[in-house]
Amino acid sequence: MTDRYAVIGNPIGHTKSPLIHGLFAEATGQALEYTAIEGPLEPREGFAQTVKAFIAAGGKGMNVTAPFKLHAFELADERSERATLAGAVNAMKFENGRIIAENFDGVGLVRDIEANLQRPMAGKRVLILGAGGAVRGALLPFLAAGPAQLVIANRDVAKAEALVAQVGAGQSLRACGYRELEAMGSFDLVVNATSASLTGQLPPVPPGVFSPAGTAYELAYGKGLTPFLRLARNAGIQGVADGVGMLVEQAAEAFAWWRGVRPDTRAVIDRLTVPLD
Ligand code: NDP
Repeated sequence: MTDRYAVIGNPIGHTKSPLIHGLFAEATGQALEYTAIEGPLEPREGFAQTVKAFIAAGGKGMNVTAPFKLHAFELADERSERATLAGAVNAMKFENGRIIAENFDGVGLVRDIEANLQRPMAGKRVLILGAGGAVRGALLPFLAAGPAQLVIANRDVAKAEALVAQVGAGQSLRACGYRELEAMGSFDLVVNATSASLTGQLPPVPPGVFSPAGTAYELAYGKGLTPFLRLARNAGIQGVADGVGMLVEQAAEAFAWWRGVRPDTRAVIDRLTVPLD
């Protein structure tokens, strides 16, 4: 029987995961089937039942997207350190009757910035806007990249502070509100990990945080120049990117974890990229 994988979410019609994993399978010569499953919003235990039915039907692994990342965390038998800090799961592997959980969003993001965009973070000043699920998943991989300073700014400052406290604030890691950014100078990398762009909004970030030689990265993808990327461009930044590379890189991490072979991502990123302008 062909090994089965799926992405589960609700809604799920927009997902690019079957296309991405289909292209990976073709390129690496792996025989697998990858489908999209619309998980039930109610009843609460419906998510677990759907996952267990998939396992019973020969499922080997699943990607998890909104709103089930926390449900998957609860359901797992084993969780990686990254998934534990994030409190959220975006990939599961089913092995010997156990559900093993991972979160590849952060490593995918770091890989896109450092390998694809060629912007190493070591020794740099890095600013992340937002303190939601994506930032929770990104924190450990960002710290591992060795920035000189990592600042997490959020509207709800307590949320950013709680996140930083989980890994231990220090000289190089701090949480703050947007107003405090005014006095912090410019950053080499500014990452918009808020969901503001999904509704065409701009987080209240002062333009002074952008450095012309730096990079502005938007986690949302396929939306062209979002208000955040436009602000960065107007501040003179040439290096702007959206999150399509992150999407493909996190998928590649899951594929490698499941299949033991890491697919090349360049052609898939190019295929999915919607030009910013
Ligand atoms: P969450 O809902 O967990 O968190 C949302 C965050 O955005 C919070 O920090 C919230 O601040 C902040 N926020 C929302 N609206 C505004 C606003 N108008 N101004 C300032 N801050 C705002 O979302 P996620 O962390 O899951 O996702 C964040 C983004 O990342 C989304 O755009 C999502 O699509 C994208 N994403 C992209 C991926 C990819 O592969 N490219 C993967 C995962 C996510 P507060 O706490 O103050 O309310």
